[in-house]
Amino acid sequence: MTDERESALLESVPNQLFIGGEWVDAAGGATLDVRDPSTGLVIRSIADASVDDGARALDAAVAAQDAWAATPPRTRSDILRRAFDLVQERKEDLALLMTLEMGKPLAESRGEVVYGGEFLRWFSEEAVRIAGRYGLNPEGTGRMIVSQRPVGPSFFITPWNFPFAMATRKIAPALAAGCTVVIKPAELTPLTTLYFASILAEAGLPAGVVNVLTTSSSGSVSGPIIADPRLKKLSFTGSTEVGRKLIAQAAEGVLRVSMELGGNAPFVIFEDADLDKAVDGAMLAKFRNIGQACTAANRFIVHEAVAEEFAARVAERVSSMRVGRGTEEGVQIGPLINEGAVDKASELVDDAVDRGASVLAGGSRIEGEGTFYEPTVLSGVVPGSQILREEIFGPVLAIATFADEDEAVRLANDTEYGLVSYVFTRDLQRGHRMIDRLETGMMGLNVGVVSNAAAPFGGVKQSGIGREGGLEGIHEYLSTKYTLIPVD
Ligand code: NAP
Ligand code: MG
Repeated sequence: MTDERESALLESVPNQLFIGGEWVDAAGGATLDVRDPSTGLVIRSIADASVDDGARALDAAVAAQDAWAATPPRTRSDILRRAFDLVQERKEDLALLMTLEMGKPLAESRGEVVYGGEFLRWFSEEAVRIAGRYGLNPEGTGRMIVSQRPVGPSFFITPWNFPFAMATRKIAPALAAGCTVVIKPAELTPLTTLYFASILAEAGLPAGVVNVLTTSSSGSVSGPIIADPRLKKLSFTGSTEVGRKLIAQAAEGVLRVSMELGGNAPFVIFEDADLDKAVDGAMLAKFRNIGQACTAANRFIVHEAVAEEFAARVAERVSSMRVGRGTEEGVQIGPLINEGAVDKASELVDDAVDRGASVLAGGSRIEGEGTFYEPTVLSGVVPGSQILREEIFGPVLAIATFADEDEAVRLANDTEYGLVSYVFTRDLQRGHRMIDRLETGMMGLNVGVVSNAAAPFGGVKQSGIGREGGLEGIHEYLSTKYTLIPVD
C-alpha cells in the first residue's frame, strides 16, 4: 500500500507527454498504467503516445535544433549545472519515485540519483571544452582546421532497470554538444523521465530541446522517428535482441548509432585473490539492482582451490539478505520487474540444478504479492548450462570452476557479449595480462562496480557500439568537420 508521502509524490509527477516545452495529452487521449512491482498495483496513469505524437515530438526537436546549437556553450553548461543542483535538492523524491516504479531498494535508488546526477555535472563541465585543432599540412601548402559540430536531433530509447541514470547518461552529453532530443523511456518505468523533464524545464532548458514520449507501443512509435531523415542520431540502451533490430532500421538512413546492449559478465577469482575483497565485490557485482544490471556478474569463474570456500562464504551472506518492498528500511533485495523475469530466473536455476549444480542458498520464487525471487547461490554449475550462456537478470549467483589461467580466459571469453569483466588476483602481472586478454569494454580489477560519469562506459562484441560518459561520451554527439585553406 502507498502511504501519504508516496501518494503526494506520485500526484506531483507530470502524467502527460512533454513536447515543445508543453505538457500535452496523447492524441486521442490514450493512457497507460504504471505499476509498482512489489505490489502489482497501479500507481499512476499517464499519456500513451501514438505515431502522431512521435512525429510531433520530432518536429519540436528539429525546430529547436539550430537555436540550441547556436546557444553559447557556457549557457548550455549553466543549464546542465542547474539541473544537477535541482537533482540534488530533489534527491529523495527521485529516489522514492524510482523505487516505486521499478522496485529497487531505496538505498540503491539514492545511489542511482548520485550516479545519474554526475552525468549532468560532468557534461556541464565538458560543454565548454569542445576542442578542435589547427595545423599546417605536411607539404606546407595548406592550413588544416578540424572542428566539431553537433550531430543534430537525437532519439533515445532507454530501459527500465536504471530509469534515471540511463536518461541522464544520454541527455547530458547531447545537450552539452548542442543536440536536441526526443526520449522514449520504457513503458514499465516512465515516471522518472517525466519528473526529470520537469527538472530540466525548471533549470531553464528552452522549449523543444528535450521532448518525452511515453508509450505502450515502443516499436510502432519508434519506427517512423528512426526512418525520418531529419533525425541524425539514435542511442539505445536495452537488450541485444532489440538493439540488433534498431541497428537494421537505422541502416536505412545510415543513421549514427550508439548501442549499450546486454552483458554476460565473467567474475574471475584466482587462487591468490584476497577472498574478503572477492566476496564483497561479488555481493555488489551480483546483487546490486536485484541482479538486473547489464554489468551484473553473470558467471562466477573461480579457481578450484578456493571455489568451495568462496561458495560457502557468499552463501552465508546471501542467506541473511533481507527481501521485501524497496521502501522498507534495511531491504536489500526488492522485487524483479515482472512475472516474466521471475519465470526466467526459475527456468535458469532449474536447468542448472537438473544438470548437477547444488543450491547453497535460495533457489525458489516467493509466492504471494509482487514478483519476488529468493537471492540464490548455485555451486558446481557445469559447462553447457543455460545460466552460463544467457543474461540472468535476477539475484542468482552461479559458480563454475577452472584449473589454470588459460582455462579461465577461455571460459570468460566464451560468450558473444563483451561489456564488463571482474578479476580478483593479487598478482600484478597477471592482472595486466587479464586486461589484455579478456574481451570486454570495461574491467574491474579487484573491485565489483566500475560505473562512473568520468569513465567511458560501453562494450565490445555484441554488447554494443560507442561509449557513454568520460571524455569519449560527448563525441557520440559531435561530428568532425575538416576544412583546408591554401597557404598563399
Ligand atoms: P528491451 O526490451 O530491449 O527494452 C529497452 C527499451 O527498448 C525499452 O524502452 C523498450 O520499450 C524499447 N523497445 C523494445 N522493443 C522495441 C522496438 N521494437 N523498437 C523500439 N524500442 C523498443 O530491454 P529490457 O528488457 O527492457 O532491458 C534489459 C536489457 O537492457 C538487458 O539486456 C540489459 O543488459 C540491457 N541494458 C544494457 C545497458 C548497457 O548500458 N549496456 C544498461 C542497462 C540495461 P518498452 O519496454 O516500453 O517496450
Ligand atoms: Mg521490454
